[in-house]
Amino acid sequence: MIKIDNITKSFGQLNVLKGITTNIGKGEVVAIIGPSGSGKSTLLRCINLMETPTTGTITINGQEITAPKADVMGIRQQIGMVFQHFHLFPHMTVLKNLTYAPMKVKGMSAAEAEKKARELLARVGLADKADVFPSRLSGGQKQRVAIARSLVMEPQIMLFDEPTSALDPEMVKEVLEVMKGLADSGMTMAIVTHEMRFAEEVSDRILFLDDGRLLEDTPPEEFFQKPRSERAQQFLEKVR
Ligand code: ADP
Ligand code: MG
Repeated sequence: MIKIDNITKSFGQLNVLKGITTNIGKGEVVAIIGPSGSGKSTLLRCINLMETPTTGTITINGQEITAPKADVMGIRQQIGMVFQHFHLFPHMTVLKNLTYAPMKVKGMSAAEAEKKARELLARVGLADKADVFPSRLSGGQKQRVAIARSLVMEPQIMLFDEPTSALDPEMVKEVLEVMKGLADSGMTMAIVTHEMRFAEEVSDRILFLDDGRLLEDTPPEEFFQKPRSERAQQFLEKVR
């Protein structure tokens, strides 16, 4: 579904991605792990064109999204993204946070958008929060709203950039459970995470990045039991 072919990304003199090649299949869940500054967020942001790769190509469902004439808005609509810091609209109720984009971007009727929004809020366990403002929610609740808000656009792919890193420990689980449910439902997902146990349990594949290079692209059992690269071994010793 997603083909990443030898992409590089530089910011001025700084080479952040140094030739990444991998594929993500439909329904596959990929965990992207690696030290801080290794290029994980940049790689994720290239997939939804928040960053443009300097060289190389990315193809989604046969359509080259890095082509000069690619339909950027159309592509972004197919890809949901969830961030560490939620990025909810603070001046809108939870319900409005969910209905805004489908009405504005997809031209969905208010009634239809609300119906879908309420279904999704129920799915993430927040049916009773439709009318409150984000400031009244806990971090875990905010992140579940952010996930529901992405899903209301019916994305084909969901990207997560450290979705639990800003949460108090007792809220991590409720967010990971929502993500696990999404993975079980067959969603194609790429997740940057430091939650090693979650990555091991939920992902089909681990991408280990170090200094802009993909050092491992391997099933979780293999990665966690016998990582090939010394860098991955060192990394695992520190985080486990
Ligand atoms: P990670 O998510 O693995 O921590 P990032 O992809 O955020 O790593 O960043 C990789 C490197 O690229 C870092 O050195 C970071 O400072 C740099 N970087 C990221 N975004 C930009 C940008 N917009 N401009 C300049 N440097 C950037
Ligand atoms: Mg990052």
